[in-house]
Amino acid sequence: MSKVIVVGGGFAGVAAATALAEKGFQVELLESRGTLGGRVYSTIATDNFPAPVDNGPHLLMGCYRETLRLFQRLEVPDPFHWIDPLRLSWFTKEGKKVTLRCAPLPAPLHLVAGLFFSNAFTFGEKISMVKALTAFSRKPFKINSSLETVAHFLDATRQGPLARERFWIPLCDSVMNVPVETAPIRGLGEVLNRIFFGTRRDSAFGIATKPLSEMGFDQVPSFIDSKGGKVHFHEGVQAFQADSKTFELTTRSGKKYSGDALIWAVPPSSLSALWPKDTWTAIEKLPQLGKSPILSVHILLSQTVMEDHFFGLAGAKFEWVFNRNANWGWKGEGQSQYLSFTASAADALAKKTEKELVALAMSELQERCPAASQARVFHAKVTREMAATFIWNRETDRFRLPCETPFPNIFLAGDWTDTGLPATIEGACVSGHRAAEKIRDYFC
Ligand SMILES: Cc1cc2nc3c(=O)[nH]c(=O)nc-3n(C[C@H](O)[C@H](O)[C@H](O)COP(=O)(O)OP(=O)(O)OC[C@H]3O[C@@H](n4cnc5c(N)ncnc54)[C@H](O)[C@@H]3O)c2cc1C
Repeated sequence: MSKVIVVGGGFAGVAAATALAEKGFQVELLESRGTLGGRVYSTIATDNFPAPVDNGPHLLMGCYRETLRLFQRLEVPDPFHWIDPLRLSWFTKEGKKVTLRCAPLPAPLHLVAGLFFSNAFTFGEKISMVKALTAFSRKPFKINSSLETVAHFLDATRQGPLARERFWIPLCDSVMNVPVETAPIRGLGEVLNRIFFGTRRDSAFGIATKPLSEMGFDQVPSFIDSKGGKVHFHEGVQAFQADSKTFELTTRSGKKYSGDALIWAVPPSSLSALWPKDTWTAIEKLPQLGKSPILSVHILLSQTVMEDHFFGLAGAKFEWVFNRNANWGWKGEGQSQYLSFTASAADALAKKTEKELVALAMSELQERCPAASQARVFHAKVTREMAATFIWNRETDRFRLPCETPFPNIFLAGDWTDTGLPATIEGACVSGHRAAEKIRDYFC
């Protein structure tokens, strides 16, 4: 039985490790922390904030095929509320609720009909949106090669102010985690193609029914054990040596690991620090991928202000608000509503204090949602993920690395590798499954 070491237990590493274990490889998964899931995690209730807290929204979409494959492999009962057909609601600055409700029709008619009946955009904007979106209906995308960024594309296709404020900007921020001014239009196009031009189910939103740490990754160690492998926690790799045939990893405990093949599924900063010097110049450039933050404010309120699973705050810094009462069935003692506000590509907000962020989230909510005007804050907590994703733009695109390395039995995975997708859970799973395939080819 060939032995494969996987370093890093985020979605990329877990996807690779479980796919290989399923195919009969002996897998050893080394993870520096005491849990799996990497950037996707929750914290437990405390006296200061008496409810579990997710570090981010971690929304899935129906087109996340590789992620759903992973959950199926782990036999996790469907852990999502599926909003199908897709429905988006926003509270506007005028205190109105507007909606885009896709129709129960095949894609892309579901979107066209949804836009047609939506009260969120003007008639002229709806026409421009449909025209702009059709550019991504099939590959190669029908966009002028001089258009590099999402902002260029929005200008060239004359997208109106409401279409930008309610659709394009929040979509780009949440999916790419970089602003429209620098996000590559081809990257967003890849996502639009997958969401709106496959099946209707592809555009459904999947919202977790439980806090993220309860999503099924605790099944991974027994899954890998049952196939003859092992997950090693608190085994952060601290040194790495390799030549054309062999490799050796030394972990924090001083233990040494080697095998027939290796997958690195760690963030770029960890990889560039560990890679043997002078063996691959591309690795030295990885820090230039940069880091883009995502911020969340979690608030327990005195009264119920909404029933929807989530909604948008049009034109606000906190684009989306998730309702944990609806998502998780959360019921607090004496507090009526648990809301989590999220802000992507949040460099400017990241400089604010916790108090300022809570005040901003509440004022953006109360300005737009009349039902919240009398609501009092009982508890609040801020989560800051300063390295939530890499920064994907024209300059950094060339630093994303392929799965293959100069060593024939060593491969890379991770949301930052060159998948053609933004840094998302699906991008991580695509990369993990791709690395597993490469290992299988290597042994064939
Ligand atoms: C706040 C937030 C919100 C997000 N929202 C969404 C969303 O709504 N939808 C979506 O699709 N995506 C979302 N993302 C992005 C998504 O979470 C990531 O793209 C994905 O989880 C990355 O997975 P990964 O396996 O590539 O990396 P990671 O999750 O970073 O996994 C890397 C693992 O390697 C381990 N490691 C690092 N160094 C070593 C070492 N030396 N030895 C051993 N182990 C090591 C780490 O501990 C970690 O477990 C969000 C991210 C954040 C932070």
